[in-house]
Amino acid sequence: MQIRKLNSRKRIALVAHDNKKLELIEWAVYNKTVLAMHKLYATGTTGKMLETALGQPITKFLSGPLGGDQQIGGRIAEGKIDVLIFFWDPMEAQPHDPDIKALLRLGVVWNIPFACDRSSADFILTSPLMHQDYESIIPDYSAYLKRAQP
Ligand code: PGA
Repeated sequence: MQIRKLNSRKRIALVAHDNKKLELIEWAVYNKTVLAMHKLYATGTTGKMLETALGQPITKFLSGPLGGDQQIGGRIAEGKIDVLIFFWDPMEAQPHDPDIKALLRLGVVWNIPFACDRSSADFILTSPLMHQDYESIIPDYSAYLKRAQP
């Protein structure tokens, strides 16, 4: 079994669609002290807003529709993001819907904790595991990788 070791300072990626940005900012400000213990990443616009609201440096990727979601997905695949907080908008189609689906998929592919609404984000952020080392199981894709090629 392969293990990914997450240390107590988690690498958290935050993304919010336009209609969800205020909700994410409000949640982040409420949890400012806890978030300050971790390393934050975000898509471009969400990141700029969070940086101003939190006064904490945030590693910003491209704006979501310009590739930011895919950049975060790529980092998840590389084991460089530990937690995803993704407030996607269930009421409006987005120009980058395929990227959103891809990001949600990679979260499951790589077994990372992720929250898509405020209650789930509260449960994750208040978990004792956020503040301690954690050994996360990397799903075993060896059979898939070894499958017979046509
Ligand atoms: P944004 O991207 O933070 O640049 O607005 C978010 C998204 O739509 O994925």
